[in-house]
Amino acid sequence: MGELRVNCLEYEDREWLLVWDNRKSKRGGGRLEVTADTAKTIKDWLKVRENIDLPTGSEGFLFPPAGEDGAKRHLTPGQIAVIIRKWTDAVPVLLTEEIGEDGERIPFDKQLVYPYAFRHSYAQRHADGGVPIDVLRDLMDHRSIQTTQGYYKISQKRKRQAVNVMRLRTLDRRGKAAPMASATAYEARSVAVPFGNCIDPSNVKAGGKACPLRFQCAACPSYRPDPSYLPAIEDHIRSLKADKEMALMMEADDFVVRNLDDQIAAFKGTAATMRHLMEGMDPEERDEVEKAATVLRKVRAAQGGGGVSLPMPSFPKRHEGNGA
Ligand code: SF4
Repeated sequence: MGELRVNCLEYEDREWLLVWDNRKSKRGGGRLEVTADTAKTIKDWLKVRENIDLPTGSEGFLFPPAGEDGAKRHLTPGQIAVIIRKWTDAVPVLLTEEIGEDGERIPFDKQLVYPYAFRHSYAQRHADGGVPIDVLRDLMDHRSIQTTQGYYKISQKRKRQAVNVMRLRTLDRRGKAAPMASATAYEARSVAVPFGNCIDPSNVKAGGKACPLRFQCAACPSYRPDPSYLPAIEDHIRSLKADKEMALMMEADDFVVRNLDDQIAAFKGTAATMRHLMEGMDPEERDEVEKAATVLRKVRAAQGGGGVSLPMPSFPKRHEGNGA
């Protein structure tokens, strides 16, 4: 269970951070990046809170428990569940993003809205976005990576279906279609490197750890990117740009900067090709490819590779062991 104090908001490097204590695991001072909207909602609530009569003992907490003078210091998950149930009961209908056979959005089962489900949704959204499992473990403040892996469960069937969709959209480094003959070929004749698949035999054999070109994939004949790698490619372009800035600052020799410029240009070309490929698809196909890309990013993230980097939260102390 997490606790939030009244001073739970921090602003650092133009980012809002939520400072929270993990009571269950007895760790305090965790920091989680939140959106400006969330920060504003908290600030608005703090203004409202200034004008309410606080129960004894709850002065330092963000959410005081109404009518619980001295008995509880802040709202508990059970009380929040009751509030959420009242809210969902008052809403006539909640709609999902899915469209039914009648062309209307499918209603969402209101029984599935409860506090712990928010934690699952948070994990699911990050996993779908390809956030590596070790980053998500820290975001969730899990001690063990096995606990986080529980959020990444993808059936072999879904993975196979996704591979079958994506293997037909594989390109070579020049943007020419290079479909893999089968799902087995996609998985066995290639290996996932950070920004796309690689078919270099020795690198495949070494599980992606024997690249002779230092992962300058956009210039390599063995490179086989597909649209599921687009976020990773964009992330890599940002990181190359940061490397270039650093090289300039250090007054490195021209050839270092030239090489980084060339890599940035080549990866930009790969990203543009992927976007072009997606834009050229009809909506149904694009939807199918996007869903397959989500599944594959999640699989790769669970395996500890690929994906986008998110800022890391920090806790003063981490103990080893199991548990959420
Ligand atoms: S540079 Fe070539 S050999 Fe190396 S990982 Fe990338 S595609 Fe494979």
